[in-house]
Amino acid sequence: MQSQNVEINDYYSTDSFTRIKALADQHETPFVVIDTHIINQHYSSLVENFPYARIYYAVKANPAIEILSLLRDRGASFDIASTYELDKVLSLGIEPSRCSYGNTIKKRKDILYFYDKGVRLFATDAESDLRNIAELAPGAKIYVRILTEGSHTADWPLSRKFGCQIDMAVDLLVLAKELGLEPYGLSFHVGSQQRDIGAWDAAIGKVKIIFDRLREENDIQLKMLNMGGGFPANYISRTNDIATYATEITHFLKEDFGDELPEIILEPGRSLCSNAGILVSEVVLISRKSHTSLHRWVYTDVGKFSGLIETLGEAIKYPIYTEIQGEVEEAVIAGPTCDSADIMYEDSKYELPLALKTGNRLYWFSTGAYTTTYSAIEFNGFPPLKQYIITQA
Ligand SMILES: *Cc1c(COP(=O)(O)O)cnc(C)c1O
Repeated sequence: MQSQNVEINDYYSTDSFTRIKALADQHETPFVVIDTHIINQHYSSLVENFPYARIYYAVKANPAIEILSLLRDRGASFDIASTYELDKVLSLGIEPSRCSYGNTIKKRKDILYFYDKGVRLFATDAESDLRNIAELAPGAKIYVRILTEGSHTADWPLSRKFGCQIDMAVDLLVLAKELGLEPYGLSFHVGSQQRDIGAWDAAIGKVKIIFDRLREENDIQLKMLNMGGGFPANYISRTNDIATYATEITHFLKEDFGDELPEIILEPGRSLCSNAGILVSEVVLISRKSHTSLHRWVYTDVGKFSGLIETLGEAIKYPIYTEIQGEVEEAVIAGPTCDSADIMYEDSKYELPLALKTGNRLYWFSTGAYTTTYSAIEFNGFPPLKQYIITQA
């Protein structure tokens, strides 16, 4: 067999890797190191590729203060899901006019909280939620989230649970107007790490139908389209680059809306942060289940319950890098807790060097999003996954 094929420079510049490694060498595993230079670069390229869009960072991807501050200074807005996220964002001096309440699942008291703090842009996908908003956030701008297909081509689908069908979206926006709210726009999320750019085409097509129906039948002119997230990070299954996504998606938009695009919002999370992080772990145990077994079990000090929950169903395949060289062999990779669900990869064929030993480090690439916040707080006593952040010079 050949040696493992994860090349540092497929994922990080030499500068970034050197910076991350220098910090990593000072700390005991497990932890994530984030290099905000990379987030800054990804933000720049998103803005260059979608010059007509307003960026609402999906705070849940990684709510580190250093990341929020960087994006604040770059002029971003923020997609917020809870009062806790809102408090954090506002505490950094970000105006409520740069915040949207993007969670369709909200308590009445939370609607009131957002409204009292000055937030005026609300997502919804259900009548009872809309009526609550009308009562507790009078006059707010409403955008309705629609259902999308494409969950089979997204590595981490976000469909089904959120959004409603076209007819219901129309009815909700008509009702919004009747209730004294501003029927403002539509949103969708084609699924996180969406590898099929055609998913945006189908979703934009639905949006266009709703825009037209509301204008022609209800005298409502929507102003905004929120295209959510779904933009790619670099994992083992490669995707097109952001420039290709932008070219295609812009083309779909112009096909349906011509040159007069509505206000366009994007809500990137994963594509901004994933590639900025490396999760550093250590091998705790290597074993074989029998004397004749053809593969090893490699147990690390990080697992499904300490940040790697997106390996559920082996959905996200993180590139794993080690400095150990030489011949490789297939391995099952599992976490340190006393739960047999704590296995990251068994069907996906990960190969690790035969020379790998207890105490060696494994570097999980592209782990800057959806890791630290998903980490349990005390399962088997293990503390939450730590995060160290490199800020701009
Ligand atoms: C999670 C989420 C996002 C971010 O999606 P990514 O695929 O990580 O970019 C954007 N919008 C909403 C409403 C979300 O829930």
